[in-house]
Amino acid sequence: MNIPFVDLYAQYLSIKPDIDTAIENVIKETAFIGGKYVKQFEENFAKEYGIKHCIACANGTDAIYILLKMLGIGKGNEVITVANSWISTSETIGQTGAIPVFIDIEADYSTIDFTKIEEKINSKTKAIIPVHLYGQSADIKKIKEICDNHNLFLIEDCAQAHFAEFDNQLVGTFGDAATFSFYPGKNLGAYGDAGCIITNNDELAEKCRMYANHGALKKHFHQIEGINSRLDGMQAAILNAKLPFIKNWNAKRLENALYYNELLSDCKQIITPKIRQTGKHIFHVYSIRTSKRDELQFFLNEKGIQTAIHYPVALPLMPAYKHLAYSENDIPNAAKFQHEILSLPMYPELTKQQIEYIVHTIKLFFNGI
Ligand SMILES: *Cc1c(COP(=O)(O)O)cnc(C)c1O
Repeated sequence: MNIPFVDLYAQYLSIKPDIDTAIENVIKETAFIGGKYVKQFEENFAKEYGIKHCIACANGTDAIYILLKMLGIGKGNEVITVANSWISTSETIGQTGAIPVFIDIEADYSTIDFTKIEEKINSKTKAIIPVHLYGQSADIKKIKEICDNHNLFLIEDCAQAHFAEFDNQLVGTFGDAATFSFYPGKNLGAYGDAGCIITNNDELAEKCRMYANHGALKKHFHQIEGINSRLDGMQAAILNAKLPFIKNWNAKRLENALYYNELLSDCKQIITPKIRQTGKHIFHVYSIRTSKRDELQFFLNEKGIQTAIHYPVALPLMPAYKHLAYSENDIPNAAKFQHEILSLPMYPELTKQQIEYIVHTIKLFFNGI
């Protein structure tokens, strides 16, 4: 049996008429950049989040960069973030001229360890960017408390956490603003690059909108120099078509994860992902840990099962951050886990039978049964 890591075509087939109509309309109306469908998506997404502003932009990386710039963060500043994430979270800090300060991850949930944040705060610190990694909330209330006590901006990187919750509240609504990616493989994915910022701050929203559009709110009236980070109409129309299904897809992912957890519970060589009691996990990624990671990945691949690693090298240990001189001792959990984590196939359309085959193959590797 061949099982891909994600199956975006299966999802397309499940809502084909909606997607085809959405794309046809964009072409018919030549609403290619900005326009009606982008506006509709911004309104729909903001409404779903119960938040005042949604600013669409070209991708989730730009969303973080735009926000940091418009919060006035730059040279001479430090921004605290987490050691295990996709590089967008930290490279955007560097792009503003500020320095990323990396914090280790919690052993249980692989999100930022809030107990290690305060010792890194100094007069240069301006913001904290926690990542709701794998679709699970960081300990966001504790982090918010730290931000409030030290007068820091809180930016939630929600690229992997569309409609995830903490204490019955949507993540992305705790901080000053949040950023999303709609990269095709994300839980809510476009058919190309796409991203957005959400915030309740009117002034910040207007600034971000301006900066993402060459520094102009009205064509040819450039208040500042900005960047070109527009969302195209095709992506917006596709996202509009998909938005009604996202909560159901998230629920299916959670169901799949719980089935994996159940079937793997007697496999002693594996640590399955732990779910916070206080949250709603949307399982963007189902990541297990094992000391035989590389061998298991090879074996699964031979049996037609595609896997991935999120992420094989902790950010501070990347060549890109050599100049910051982090060692494994600074981030012991992230440094250890990077050799043990393995992401198994995870998508809403994954069947019970496929999960059973994957688990059977894992057990075959460890026990030869
Ligand atoms: C995907 C991702 C991003 C970046 O999004 P793009 O749309 O690919 O630019 C940022 N942060 C995290 C945690 C991500 O997973």
